[in-house]
Amino acid sequence: MSFSQARWVRGDNVLEPSLFEIGRAEGGTVVAEPEEELVSLLGGIERIIPGNLIRKELKLPGLSEPEVARHFNHLAQMNYGVDSGPYWLGSCTMKYTPKLVMRVADHQALRDMHPYSPEELTEGLLSILYELQEMLSKITGLPHYTLQPAAGAQGEFVGTLIIRKKISDLGERRDEMLIPETAHGSNFASAAMAGFRVVRIPPSEEGTIDMSALKASISERTAGIMITNPNTLGIFEDRMVEISELIHANGGYVYYDGANLNAIMGWVKLSDIGVDVAHLNIHKTFSAPHGGGGPGAGAVGVVDQLKDYLPVPIIVRDGERYKLSYDLPKSIGKVRMFYGNVGVLIKAWAYLKMLGSEGVRESAAISVLNANYVRKKLMNSGFEVPYGRNRPCKHEFVISLAKIKKETGVRALDFSKALIDEGLHPPTMYFPQIVQECLMIEPTESDSIAELDRYVGAMIKIKEKAYERPEEIINAPKRAAITRIDESFANKVLWLSWKIYEKSRGQEELNR
Ligand SMILES: *Cc1c(COP(=O)(O)O)cnc(C)c1O
Repeated sequence: MSFSQARWVRGDNVLEPSLFEIGRAEGGTVVAEPEEELVSLLGGIERIIPGNLIRKELKLPGLSEPEVARHFNHLAQMNYGVDSGPYWLGSCTMKYTPKLVMRVADHQALRDMHPYSPEELTEGLLSILYELQEMLSKITGLPHYTLQPAAGAQGEFVGTLIIRKKISDLGERRDEMLIPETAHGSNFASAAMAGFRVVRIPPSEEGTIDMSALKASISERTAGIMITNPNTLGIFEDRMVEISELIHANGGYVYYDGANLNAIMGWVKLSDIGVDVAHLNIHKTFSAPHGGGGPGAGAVGVVDQLKDYLPVPIIVRDGERYKLSYDLPKSIGKVRMFYGNVGVLIKAWAYLKMLGSEGVRESAAISVLNANYVRKKLMNSGFEVPYGRNRPCKHEFVISLAKIKKETGVRALDFSKALIDEGLHPPTMYFPQIVQECLMIEPTESDSIAELDRYVGAMIKIKEKAYERPEEIINAPKRAAITRIDESFANKVLWLSWKIYEKSRGQEELNR
């Protein structure tokens, strides 16, 4: 048994109870009567906080410090992160975050800075953010940036709002956004939220944009196109320049979804392929752990003609001084409190400083090499690649298990669950939606060839088992604390606190 599997044995179907379940009632109630000394020091707490709002007791469970420490340690051991093993979540670019990066982000001077600190006291931080913007400009060729959006999806919303405001300033009535069917779901949502009607463009047999469908969709109502390149099939849209020229000639704008920039950073400049607005998923491309849905950061870059529309405030530099400026009359407004998820931005800055220009290029190249290595090995072992079989992929690729399902009854979901028993995190499933029973695999540049081989070995083993003993796959995982969750139920009935959980426990049975 390999080392990384041992953790699961320890966690074998053992659920960690909550602190309230393991805590004892006695000794757990803290009576918080303000001490005399403190009261006089503060000039009487009750003069500051109304009496009815002062808590008299905190209902904390009675626990010793080691019990609390062990509880959180157990939870951490049940979790699976990039530091536990390969985490090939396609499109999400779960790359390893170097410990040095975490150390920089955890520097006391940065960590302890209060969001309300005046600008004069935060110029050091502003200079870091300003330099990050400059580095992003160098990588993408887009001269102006905001770092405010909290994630890629919010970046899309900001970008599409910028396009909409520019169009309305020009007095035009363009209200349609073209989006390829391979795009991430958030593209459709962002365009709709920004007030556009979405026009879907189907893929060609090669998995790239169908040019005749595109041409047929362009009209005087076209505001622009949202394009992911390489797309979510991991295929480079090699007619991107032609696509941009078509959109521009028609008076529209090209939006670039930068979630897949990891494949091409340092190799292709967005400004050279006709991009007008782009979001970069800072938390994907430039390290920063982002499991469990956050935190993220979605920097948005624009060309000169759109710079007046960026969200306020923007960071301005005046010699050696840095400040935040709200002097941008055409701005779409403020989109996030304070100045974005600064901790994530600092990690990206440290990461890029570590890599340098050559490192950026090299990491993109290795991510593409790794993906092609794994793809080729899986193809040679009988896994089906539905699109772009005959050309290399970029940093990720999509396989379809439709044939395996037909012959064995094992679905992509079951396959993924079986990977958990192999000590591996499952890849992205059922996305993009145009591929039946798909797994979307993105090894990133972080994993060694030994890890790539281990993953491929596990995939082959599960496939063989699917034909020999499918029930084992259908009942996987055996070696995890959490096995099969009713995700739609969990999403519909949220238990966000212990009290709600207690209350809805009976309800759960009724609902089922
Ligand atoms: C992740 C992703 C997004 C959305 O980014 P978030 O940071 O998760 O909001 C958009 N497009 C693609 C292709 C993605 O992979």
